[in-house]
Amino acid sequence: MEQKIQSLREQIDQLNLELLDLLSKRAHVAEEIGEIQTSLGLSHYDPVREQEMLEAITMANLGPFDSGTLKSLFKAIFQASMQLEHEADKVKYLTSRKTHQEDTVVYVGDIPIGSNHSPVLIAGPCAIESQEQVEATAAFVASRGVSLFRGGAFKPRTDPYSFQGLGVAGLKLGREACDKHDLKFVAEIMDARDIDAFVEYADVLQVGARNMQNFSLLRAIGTTTKPVLLKRGLSATIEEWVMAAEYLLSAGNHNVILCERGIRTYEKYTRNTLDVSAVALAKLETHLPVLVDVTHSGGRRDLLVPLTKAGLASGADGIMIEVHPNPAVALSDNKQQIDFEAFDLYLEETGYHKKLSQKRHEVYGF
Ligand code: PEP
Ligand code: MN
Repeated sequence: MEQKIQSLREQIDQLNLELLDLLSKRAHVAEEIGEIQTSLGLSHYDPVREQEMLEAITMANLGPFDSGTLKSLFKAIFQASMQLEHEADKVKYLTSRKTHQEDTVVYVGDIPIGSNHSPVLIAGPCAIESQEQVEATAAFVASRGVSLFRGGAFKPRTDPYSFQGLGVAGLKLGREACDKHDLKFVAEIMDARDIDAFVEYADVLQVGARNMQNFSLLRAIGTTTKPVLLKRGLSATIEEWVMAAEYLLSAGNHNVILCERGIRTYEKYTRNTLDVSAVALAKLETHLPVLVDVTHSGGRRDLLVPLTKAGLASGADGIMIEVHPNPAVALSDNKQQIDFEAFDLYLEETGYHKKLSQKRHEVYGF
């Protein structure tokens, strides 16, 4: 008897495999139908066709299942096929990890950002104010092993009467200082009409929080191959931020780095609230490198070290920080920038001095 059960079970196992084979074949045919329907703009759901199929099945039924049981079995198969057809309809987002599983590494010249590369540090003043200021800061950060220099030439200021940046003249000053000290130059672009100047003078085009959803600017930058640093908008959801990146990728520029810079909340002790979950989520949902701007998020010097640690612990591929020779007289963000002495302390307390020491050793021999 036991032997008989064993042999019947073997038959069942075989039939299961045959059923699986048939179900898979049926699913492939359904997928093909779905693709044609999509291309013709037709709906996948056709209740008349479903009814006809169920009737044909019950007519052909010789038992032992009754018609009701068969109908519910086949309805489940129909529904599973429909699911597949809907999947085929879903847009494949270029930013999504589902579309592109491996981490993207963005190269700024020979500097890799992302994946398992050592976290980068972008340092420099909020704004480029003069030749002396940009030269002093570039010389100083380069001597500490920094490879990426920031400095705004076009500043998005809340008050239209405050310092707006030196414009193209500022870009030129930034370029000169960076060339002199072997630095890559990160600068914020606010207007698509300035693209040619940015392509000529900058190495990374920063899209600021206020322009994150400036879609015509994103499209225009998307036609270049320059690395882009895309800040998260002041009140942007993670989805909106990622969709802004999608504009750049879909326009052809895949060299996109995301940057969390804090969002608006009800909290008043900080300028913005650094959203570390957004850093972790952006790394999970997308394959792009993610940085954290510790200056504009907290807006407090005493938070620079803990926010750097939190950012890196949540998976960030690097940090952006503002450094100025004399923050007290800075023409923008004078409360948040740090001077050279504080920057040295910052490097030590965050462990960045060790990360950067290799380059310093190569270039300066100490
Ligand atoms: C900046 O980095 O200079 C800047 C203006 O930052 P955000 O766009 O994040 O406010
Ligand atoms: Mn600033």
